[in-house]
Amino acid sequence: MRIAILSSEVVPFAKTGGLADVAGALPKALKGQGVDARVILPLYQQIDRSLLSTSIIEDVPVEWRGQIRPTRVYESDAVGAPAYLIDAPEYFATSSIYGYANDHERFAFFSRAALALVKHLDWQPGIVHGNDWPCGFAMIELRARRRYDDFFRNTRTLFSIHNLAYQGAFDPNDLWRLGFGESPDKDDFMLKGVASALKAGLISADALSTVSRRYAEEIQTPEHGSGLDWLLRARRNRLAGITNGVDYEIWNPETDPHIAANFSAADLTGKRECKQDLLRRFGMPEDLDRPIIAIISRLVSQKGYDLIRQIAGAIVQTGSFFIALGAGAKEYEDFLQRWHDSTPRQVGIYKGYAGEPLAHQIEAGADMFLMPSYYEPCGLNQMYSMRYGTVPVVRATGGLDDTVEDFDPARETGNGFKFREYKAGALLEKIREALYFYSKPDVWQKIQLNGMSMDNSWEAAAQKYTQLYQEIIELPYRTDN
Ligand code: ADP
Repeated sequence: MRIAILSSEVVPFAKTGGLADVAGALPKALKGQGVDARVILPLYQQIDRSLLSTSIIEDVPVEWRGQIRPTRVYESDAVGAPAYLIDAPEYFATSSIYGYANDHERFAFFSRAALALVKHLDWQPGIVHGNDWPCGFAMIELRARRRYDDFFRNTRTLFSIHNLAYQGAFDPNDLWRLGFGESPDKDDFMLKGVASALKAGLISADALSTVSRRYAEEIQTPEHGSGLDWLLRARRNRLAGITNGVDYEIWNPETDPHIAANFSAADLTGKRECKQDLLRRFGMPEDLDRPIIAIISRLVSQKGYDLIRQIAGAIVQTGSFFIALGAGAKEYEDFLQRWHDSTPRQVGIYKGYAGEPLAHQIEAGADMFLMPSYYEPCGLNQMYSMRYGTVPVVRATGGLDDTVEDFDPARETGNGFKFREYKAGALLEKIREALYFYSKPDVWQKIQLNGMSMDNSWEAAAQKYTQLYQEIIELPYRTDN
């Protein structure tokens, strides 16, 4: 089985969030199941060139805006499966992955080049697996291509949604230039007066998936459907929910090279050393008996910072330390700065994208991890937290609802704390409940161990993807969806 995975971000090359973790881990996990999976991404300026191998594919012919643009593609084995990086400096010699006025053009080119590459390699994929709106272009192009291009006749498409709120919207007048000016393509892009690469992908892919079962249900509702719930309801028989796995080679407290001391479920003593190290890094008193509540997230409204802001004073009054790592919206960065300035010995912050080491150090040193998200397609940090004996406090939404079980003191079951209502009061109550059990070390350790013994490895997820790919390959050939 040949699977071409397309993604705009892939660990260890380029990352803004969970999509990169997934696209970096899935190919290797699939390889373990005997699948020939390869990943394709753009070669951004920020990518560490030492990750690339010396073999280069020259002159891949990409049809682009009425001409053939010969394109160079670099290879790498840094993900444990073949990776191809498309070199087009006019689009990708950028300091960030997204955020440019011509993003739609950049990723339309990427999609076209990825398809041109597999053809140039004469590597016929059973499935082209696109991720999020940047790959919506590849989904709709493939639907058209297989009508007239024999090479793709037996290729099917899977489009995975990692976050429905990012829709790749652009001016429909640009559709012509990108090669999608004629119906039905043109109509399939249109959503409320703009062109949407996400909608085009959702309409044209043979099958859809998202990153948890709960999120697959939620996006079919007006509340979480971002204006596309009707389409997802219409295609619900083709919509699967597969929870992301964790790459335990990277996120493992027993072997993690970034943390002050390694530890395991059998011996948690190293975790105390990690806690001390973390407090020192943030310049806070090394009071090891006081709990550390931590959060690592993009600073966007989705992540529940509005709730945290409302109860910031009450959190400080519990006597806990609070450590936040995040990059994003200025209003939340300013809030964190003010909070830190008012209580510097209790609130530690790092504003910006810190890279992997600090994220690992926080996971290892904290006692609790907050994820009060308004919505969360899957969420990875709650699963990383559990592995590091750090107890997640989450809202019951999306993948958080699927992976975190509220602690039940009567049966001593559950791996974290979970509240339902998107209200600051509900979050504060859960934090207080967690703190109550933190003060009972035997009970707390039980919750930690319940989390540490969870198996969220990629193996199970890769098996589900393999099964899904097989089902999609067997779908009857259709051009209408
Ligand atoms: P999302 O994909 O919505 O950002 P996830 O929980 O699925 O959320 O994944 C977030 C990933 O990004 C995690 O690996 C997390 O450690 C990392 N991350 C988020 N913000 C930062 C930051 N400021 N610095 C370092 N890593 C970060």
